[in-house]
Amino acid sequence: MKYLIIILSVLTITVNAQWIKTGGPIGGLGYNIRIDKNNKNIMYVTDAWSGVNKSTDGGQTWFAANNGITSRTGPSDDAIPVFSLTIDHNNSNVLWVGTQGQRGVFKSTDAGNSFTRMETGIIENEGLTIRNFEIDPNNSDIIFLSAELSVGVLGNEFDRVKGEVCSISYLKKGSLTKCYQTCGNPGCRCHKDEKYRHGPYWWWSTKEDGKTKSILVPEGMLSEVRSYIDNYRLLKSRIKILEEISEKIIKIRIENYKMQQKKSG
Ligand SMILES: [Zn+2]
Repeated sequence: MKYLIIILSVLTITVNAQWIKTGGPIGGLGYNIRIDKNNKNIMYVTDAWSGVNKSTDGGQTWFAANNGITSRTGPSDDAIPVFSLTIDHNNSNVLWVGTQGQRGVFKSTDAGNSFTRMETGIIENEGLTIRNFEIDPNNSDIIFLSAELSVGVLGNEFDRVKGEVCSISYLKKGSLTKCYQTCGNPGCRCHKDEKYRHGPYWWWSTKEDGKTKSILVPEGMLSEVRSYIDNYRLLKSRIKILEEISEKIIKIRIENYKMQQKKSG
């Protein structure tokens, strides 16, 4: 959430004109503000990560218009990375929407009530940001879009996950097992009946090179041991994510490298 978006009422232009905050998304990467040329009360604002925001009262109130926009991103995978939006000059009900950091081109034919994915032929996926649309003034079927293929978005994501890794504390793999045991005294009743066994004892077991190593853990230390095990799992999952991001980055870098070879060749 880098920028605070201030939605502007463009209709209240007076001598002492002032900017008024009229709601809308609290912040994110805002990019396009589009106004319907046939009805100046209808406005659209894009925002990564709240998606398309629409107003029908000249910017006084806003509502989300993301029906059918299926792109998602962010730490909890519920952010809508809408970046660009264009209204067809020939038909105000037709909107084109592009997303940030991943392939996502959407078209609406009902002024944003619903969108359909329209990206047949675009092969790039990760790192792709649709920056702008241009529609032929005489033919709505001819649409140009400009896009940027970048490792930047992925690089930021990598750094964010790397930051999480740095804050992880002590860790060790393994699992905790609860058991009841017999003692060293042969006369003890624990040897005669299972229900007299001593315990519970908690064993923290790990397998290393095929051998199981166990540490006896006092009950009062269980939560600390659990945090070690949780931290180990967390680190493993984060390494997996870092690997996945790195794989996407190298694929993009290979493509960019091949394009540069073509240019200079
Ligand atoms: Zn015993």
